[in-house]
Amino acid sequence: MNILIKNVSVLSSALDSTIIENTSILVKNGIISKISPDNIAEEGVPVFDGGGNLLIPGMVNSHTHASMSLFRGLGEGRRDRLTKFFFPLEKKHVSQELVFLAALQGLQEMLVHGVTAFCDMYYFEDEVGKAAEALGMRGVLGQTIINFPAPDAPKIYGGLDLAHCSAERWKDHDLLKFAYAPHATYTVEPHILKEINIHADKTNSLVTMHVAEFEDEWERISAISDIKQNETVIAYLERHEVIRDYSIYAHNIFVTKEDIDLLKKHHIHVAHCPIANAKGGKGIAPVYDMYQAGLTIGLATDGPLSGNRLSLRDVVSYSYVLAKLRGLDPTHLLPAEILHFATKGGYDLLSIEKGGEIKEGYKADFSLIDINDVGMTPNYAPVSNIVLSMSDRAYLATWVNGVKVAENGVPVNCDWALYQKEIQKMITDLSKVIHEL
Ligand SMILES: [Zn+2]
Repeated sequence: MNILIKNVSVLSSALDSTIIENTSILVKNGIISKISPDNIAEEGVPVFDGGGNLLIPGMVNSHTHASMSLFRGLGEGRRDRLTKFFFPLEKKHVSQELVFLAALQGLQEMLVHGVTAFCDMYYFEDEVGKAAEALGMRGVLGQTIINFPAPDAPKIYGGLDLAHCSAERWKDHDLLKFAYAPHATYTVEPHILKEINIHADKTNSLVTMHVAEFEDEWERISAISDIKQNETVIAYLERHEVIRDYSIYAHNIFVTKEDIDLLKKHHIHVAHCPIANAKGGKGIAPVYDMYQAGLTIGLATDGPLSGNRLSLRDVVSYSYVLAKLRGLDPTHLLPAEILHFATKGGYDLLSIEKGGEIKEGYKADFSLIDINDVGMTPNYAPVSNIVLSMSDRAYLATWVNGVKVAENGVPVNCDWALYQKEIQKMITDLSKVIHEL
């Protein structure tokens, strides 16, 4: 939690893209206490030589299902991939042990690629919390609540009881927060959403949900609730008075200008999932319009079935490119704005104060980037390079809360070799089952 990093350049804030050259950073108790080109000396504090490389703010994966990492790649391009592969596997094999090991695998993939915080939604979410603790990662644990029997809750909406326990368990944690995670607008009825919001208020928890993800979401909702003819999903939620302020809504593809005004009224935080949206043939979210309206935007991979990779490497470049395609305008969103979504926007989205920028008084969550990486050369426009051309190999080391948690592509804050063996055994067991599907 205390470290002195010398001989680095620093990208202090993505939005203003200012680089502080040849400087040192002193971290005390997980907080950046001093950034100075002077020769800082602090007795008893370990020193890390940055080798003249570039320190950038930690990134946030704003919406994911990390424990689906062990199902990655199955049934790509098939309409029946969920019913053929995923639902049978989830029903029979998603256990506490699988969620823990698969979360380790998914979270480490983020961590070694500069993602310092995440927002997860899955079953047995306490196990995701244990995996994050083992790796030393910051994040939000979203316990799924859904209207059918789930791997961790045999009765419908059984996740609600689990959520109450988890909210209590994680309420005072240094790095992890809890979220009630109603699965989606079409799988959770309004009276349950109201109950969730009451409990989230009581326990000071977050709320996260899939919203306006599908073109046919109106039909899906009409199967469980009383959505009116021609009513948008957001208008439906507003009429039922179930939009909790500062909730994290993933996707938000099918939203009108009036919907965006409602989202702004409730300070909704948007987790933008461009690759998952594109790969699922769903659409391109109006992220430029939502940003112009003043909404807080974070970037996300979604789960590894939808987004495959859990690093934000591709997500940042897709966000940049697809905003232009959606608006048919090359000026829609600058590289600095995209990197802002991935960093400060993500911390704001998780309601974590003083995160996502490298400034005195801010949380010491950052990554060291190899300035000689092929995608960082030439380095006239480092922010553009980070968003559009930098390679995955560029991440030399990552710190969370002032603790070095990954270096040279490997987690370093745990016995990763041991975990790898356990994960590999789980994959071997699963592969036998998968071949029979
Ligand atoms: Zn999702």
